[in-house]
Amino acid sequence: MQEISTKVMIIGGGPAGYVAAIRAGQHGLSTVLVDEGRLGGTCLNVGCIPSKAIIHVAEAFHQARAHQGASPFGLKTGETQLDFATTRDWKDAIVGKLNGGVAFLLRKNKVTVLEGRAEILDGKTCTVTGAAGPTRVRAEHLVIATGSQPMELAALPFGGRVLSSTGLLALDRVPESLAVVGAGYIGLELGTAFAKLGAKVSVIEATDTILPAWDRELTQPVARRLEALGVTTVLGARAQGLRDDAVLLAARKDGEPLAVAAETVLVAVGREPRTEGFGLERLDLDRDGNFIRIDARCATSMRNVWAIGDITGEPMLAHRAMAQGELVADVIAGKRRIFDHNAIPAICFTDPEIVAVGLAPDEARSSGIAVKVGTFPFAANGRALTQADDHGFVRLTARSDDHVVVGIQAVGAHVSELSSAFSLAIEMSARAEDVAATIHAHPTRSEAFQEAALGVLGHAVHI
Ligand SMILES: Cc1cc2nc3c(=O)[nH]c(=O)nc-3n(C[C@H](O)[C@H](O)[C@H](O)COP(=O)(O)OP(=O)(O)OC[C@H]3O[C@@H](n4cnc5c(N)ncnc54)[C@H](O)[C@@H]3O)c2cc1C
Repeated sequence: MQEISTKVMIIGGGPAGYVAAIRAGQHGLSTVLVDEGRLGGTCLNVGCIPSKAIIHVAEAFHQARAHQGASPFGLKTGETQLDFATTRDWKDAIVGKLNGGVAFLLRKNKVTVLEGRAEILDGKTCTVTGAAGPTRVRAEHLVIATGSQPMELAALPFGGRVLSSTGLLALDRVPESLAVVGAGYIGLELGTAFAKLGAKVSVIEATDTILPAWDRELTQPVARRLEALGVTTVLGARAQGLRDDAVLLAARKDGEPLAVAAETVLVAVGREPRTEGFGLERLDLDRDGNFIRIDARCATSMRNVWAIGDITGEPMLAHRAMAQGELVADVIAGKRRIFDHNAIPAICFTDPEIVAVGLAPDEARSSGIAVKVGTFPFAANGRALTQADDHGFVRLTARSDDHVVVGIQAVGAHVSELSSAFSLAIEMSARAEDVAATIHAHPTRSEAFQEAALGVLGHAVHI
């Protein structure tokens, strides 16, 4: 068996693992990165990137069809068709390009990449089994970045017509009907996209609201758009199984049975940490539920064993995973660093988009903070009107006494691009006065951010 000794070994080449490897390489640490799949992990191959590619095409197709009849600004298009197999190839080409980019950066930083499955033997040793034969790796530091996987429902195991997000994103044809089980962000992003692509979409959600992690003021515009797109949303209902004739069976809370058209079923009921099948149980690591417990340096309960990314818990987001990856490599290189971010933005790429950073007004109040809230609607924003989509608003929450901003949320077209300004404001402990006094370019949607801050101060100009 081939043997390698290294300073750092990282299991998992998703955003957490590959960023840790690049940064460790930049520090001059000998680093081995192992992945059994393609570099970039869930995010790049079957998550963030392919889903946003499909969402983009779906929106383009939807817009083209929407303007076939009466266009408010006079656009006339012919019959619109979509060759979805080409869409899939285009999406795969983007993924391939980014895979290549990650491989290049790892090479550039002298990271040894091993393709294969890692099995942990102890806190310093793993075996990697891949096409190149088995390799034993001994490392001073072991970084676990094995990510997460879709949760399965006992009544609807994956296989055949029942797909996870990975299966749905690999389709080369738009199904006639799609039942989405779970109205979280993954279910609604993909459900909305497939509705725009022409599928008859139904969403079944067990709780009484869509996007249960977000407040109602933010989710209402999304609910209205789903309705306008012809998506049937059934709340307070549980999926129970499949019938042979392209039908999903479900039941409402009161027991009333439902039958929903479902050539294809997407089960999107959450993701769970990937903890099994690679010897993790050989390490006596403290857990938070099924996640690996870490401290503010991403250290586990075992010396020189570190964990980063989705395996360490919520929020399971790629940008948090990457920030942890950078941090852990710095810590291993001897830098004094801790994960002390005030703001981790969360975005829902639904229609309209939602972005949230920090506390919602009710969250702030229930943690005992007296707040002032400023809200500015896109209906009064010039840029939104010129983009023919003026739904939604920006909402800024600041402490009543010193006006330090504790939360910013927005719902509307393209608001994901405002997330960096929102995060920066909170990360730098900006006061509403700072945001209000910053000149925001005209005409942009970001002016609504400035106006929301002015609203907190009682001086909004344009409403
Ligand atoms: C459809 C979808 C859309 C998403 N959209 C967004 C979004 O818009 N924004 C966002 O921030 N997040 C999004 N996410 C979440 C995001 O993908 C994850 O938070 C992110 O990928 C986590 O990174 P990670 O490095 O922790 O794990 P992962 O990306 O899951 O990578 C883990 C890697 O470890 C490898 N691995 C596991 N075990 C072993 C082993 N024993 N040996 C070798 N290799 C192993 C796997 O092959 C995998 O490549 C989305 C997820 C999905 C499913």
